[in-house]
Amino acid sequence: MNKSQVLFREAQTYFPGGVNSPVRAYAAVGGFPPFIKRGRGSRIFDEDGNHYIDYVLSWGPLILGHCHPAVVRAAKAAIDEGSSFGAPTRKETHLAALIMEFMPHLELLRFVNSGTEAAMSAVRLARAFTRRNLVIKFEGCYHGSCDFLLASAGSGVATLNIDKPGIPPETACHTLCLPYNDLEAVKNIFKHRWSEIACVILEPVAGNMGLVPPQLGFLENLRTLCDRAGSLLIFDEVMSGFRVDPGGAQALYGVVPDLTCLGKVIGGGFPVGAYGGKRAIMEMVAPSGPVYQAGTLSGNPVAMAAGIAALQQLKSGGWRKAEDYAAHLEKALRQNLKKLGLSLTFHRLGTMFCQFFTDKPVEDFSRACNLEAFKAYFHLMLKYGVYLPPSQFETCFVSSAHNSGDLNQSAKAHYRALAELKKKGLLS
Ligand SMILES: *Cc1c(COP(=O)(O)O)cnc(C)c1O
Repeated sequence: MNKSQVLFREAQTYFPGGVNSPVRAYAAVGGFPPFIKRGRGSRIFDEDGNHYIDYVLSWGPLILGHCHPAVVRAAKAAIDEGSSFGAPTRKETHLAALIMEFMPHLELLRFVNSGTEAAMSAVRLARAFTRRNLVIKFEGCYHGSCDFLLASAGSGVATLNIDKPGIPPETACHTLCLPYNDLEAVKNIFKHRWSEIACVILEPVAGNMGLVPPQLGFLENLRTLCDRAGSLLIFDEVMSGFRVDPGGAQALYGVVPDLTCLGKVIGGGFPVGAYGGKRAIMEMVAPSGPVYQAGTLSGNPVAMAAGIAALQQLKSGGWRKAEDYAAHLEKALRQNLKKLGLSLTFHRLGTMFCQFFTDKPVEDFSRACNLEAFKAYFHLMLKYGVYLPPSQFETCFVSSAHNSGDLNQSAKAHYRALAELKKKGLLS
């Protein structure tokens, strides 16, 4: 047994499944997760002395890579001044102003500690504002682990989600889950139940079922349906924000939501979330309005400082660099696929990409993917020093620290792994 295996066994005596967030346990791919000791730039180093080119990047936040000097400096300086006050600081205003430069449609903002909190609070606000209960979400979209947004299973036109233990049917029955990109399904619900619909919440570019972009007109049509019905449109840009475009999906597609959820990148690798949007709606949040929402560590100065440094870096060329690297990698991987005669569906937007083990178009939560092939691919890539998300239904992230050496090495590993799968008959 290597060190990671010993550590994982030990962790299993302390934590359910040995982890503090489920996907880290490698359930979808089998085997043991490497225990990570440290990271630097594009790389992470495990307890056994292996190192990997990291395309997980803490599940998205580290768009500048690990330990970017400016972020480290800012966070250290903030700690030296006191790690938390539970009182207003200039740093919160500074980070909010930076975020609003990227996303000018945000008029008021509230910082929270996670994306889960952001989505949960945005929906509460939408329900209060509209005085309605019904929430429409989409299958395969993830909005954190709060009760009424966990609903995701089930297909067909509209599934009532009562399949999650611990979530009372009375809670789940206010959430309707529809297939992503299925405008007709949405229209149908709006036709019959428009007066009950508080909000439509979605990842405007989905990144939690692999990377799935919205179809042409999907977001625009949701905007129109919500406007007509008096429902709110919520973009959960916790992942897509600062990733698919510096201004998120709302900038990329030019569709303005009523509320936006943020997280991941805006904390520079520290725990942060935020929700914001139109002033008239956000003014309902306490203390300016009656919708209660609070957090002891919200707007934490260390996280704010790291976030400020990260966004400043993005502004001054960091984003461009990360997206150039992502484009370079896409080109190399597509060339590999061509050379190998494989027609796997490949998506990239900005600094996110995903290779689906299917030759079918992927426009919603796909059931067509060859998960056995993914599993084998994942482990080969790990063996060749490339750390990918351990599930077909996750997205890979590129950072401004992934230099051309990293990218070429990754592309070589990709070719080698796929060639091996082909030889073994796992792919054709
Ligand atoms: C990661 C994610 C969340 C949850 O954020 P946490 O910080 O993990 O609570 C919510 N929505 C989307 C789109 C995400 O990608």
